[in-house]
Amino acid sequence: MECSLIKEREQQVFTKGRDNYTIASERGSAAGSVSQRACVFCGSRVVLYPIADALHLVHGPIGCASYTWDIRGALSSGPELHRRSFSTDLRENDVIFGGEGKLYKSLKRLIPEYKPNAVFVYSTCIVGIIGDDVEAVCSRTAIEEGIPVIPVHSEGFRGTKKEGYRAACSALLRLIELDDELRNIETGSKIKKIINTKPVINILGEFNLAGEAWIIKDYYKKMGVEVGAVLTGDGRVDEVKSAWKADLNVVQCSGSLKYLAKDMEDKFGIPFKQVSFFGIEDTADALYTVAEYFSEKPEIAEKTRELVQNQLSELYPVLEGYRKDLAGKKAAVYVGGAFKAFSMLRSLKFLGVSVVLMGSQTGSPEEYEEMKDMADPGTVIVDDSNPSELSRFIIELDVDLFVGGVKERPMAFKLGVAFCDHNHERKTALAGFEGMFNFAKEVHKSLMSPVWQTIGESKENDPWKAQ
Ligand code: SF4
Repeated sequence: MECSLIKEREQQVFTKGRDNYTIASERGSAAGSVSQRACVFCGSRVVLYPIADALHLVHGPIGCASYTWDIRGALSSGPELHRRSFSTDLRENDVIFGGEGKLYKSLKRLIPEYKPNAVFVYSTCIVGIIGDDVEAVCSRTAIEEGIPVIPVHSEGFRGTKKEGYRAACSALLRLIELDDELRNIETGSKIKKIINTKPVINILGEFNLAGEAWIIKDYYKKMGVEVGAVLTGDGRVDEVKSAWKADLNVVQCSGSLKYLAKDMEDKFGIPFKQVSFFGIEDTADALYTVAEYFSEKPEIAEKTRELVQNQLSELYPVLEGYRKDLAGKKAAVYVGGAFKAFSMLRSLKFLGVSVVLMGSQTGSPEEYEEMKDMADPGTVIVDDSNPSELSRFIIELDVDLFVGGVKERPMAFKLGVAFCDHNHERKTALAGFEGMFNFAKEVHKSLMSPVWQTIGESKENDPWKAQ
């Protein structure tokens, strides 16, 4: 395999037990490598998209908007304005003479018609090239219409998808800083501490795919902890604005929302804990982490223990059945953020499935060091991989199951390998204890499907196979 790697990528592919170097990461994709990463604009769109009472206006050619239309399976318990795809539809004339006028007209038409509580205006590649003053148009419209109109500086060419996460976090912070209560507080250098009567947390990096935020919120409710805001799953503009009042931020999707968590720590003094709600161990840890933080209220720890025990006593016997069938199978995991890959590794190991290939689009050097520690000898670890590499490894490592996203699915099926969708388009909740049950069921159903045997037989009996 080594000889077929693009030279610039050699340090981004690592085999545990054979190689001995720091995995190169957080760099632009190598020329010639068809990276699985999306662009900066897409990165910011996926983070902000679930804010359901905001209007999301893509300032650019129509293709950028259509490419990200309804991009997540993020559910809303109320308005569904986020599911619309609005675009300024920039064309040749706008590129030559500027698109500011078209943006202003679009905002002036859309705001009265859809009555959003805020607007996010996404800058795409061409807007960065022609140099529209999006800030000025947004400020003018915000004053005239009396709602926040927030520019998202997400020109596609600005860097990697991670830059898009950063742009989304900046936009979220701008929205929080517009909260009237916060602005009215005499701050000096620090804001006054809000004394909540009940412990209040925000959940960052949870997007309510298939209702996952509701599952997690329910756990915290049972523990006696209030969830002030989820950023951004089932999000509302007012909830986001009040996020500065929380006592603690728990951050699930570390790749996307950690920037905001750090900013909120600096500006509002809210500490954050990194957690994951995927898999039994990680979900239990996420709940105990919060209980521990509020240790001055021992009843929270008591309720947490009770909750976890009840969930596990129901779940273990069911999972045991799946484990019997799955033992000895081999999986590849390639996802957006490395932290999610850790949870996948633990969950698959629990089910008796070994992970022989793992990687992410946006992992950090520290995360890859952790990945190396967790992986079994012989496991191949990849950063910012591409279809060519992934396909080759799947064949060479004789993988039975691929856990990935929409871009990996056709690859798995073409290679005759079972697939489990763990990305943002999915319609099945995979978070929490319920999610672990769904994950085990899906992995089992996919791996045990008789179709793999049929495919194997047809390959054996292929009359056109070279002799
Ligand atoms: S922002 Fe740029 S890279 Fe992203 S979809 Fe639009 S044109 Fe393509």
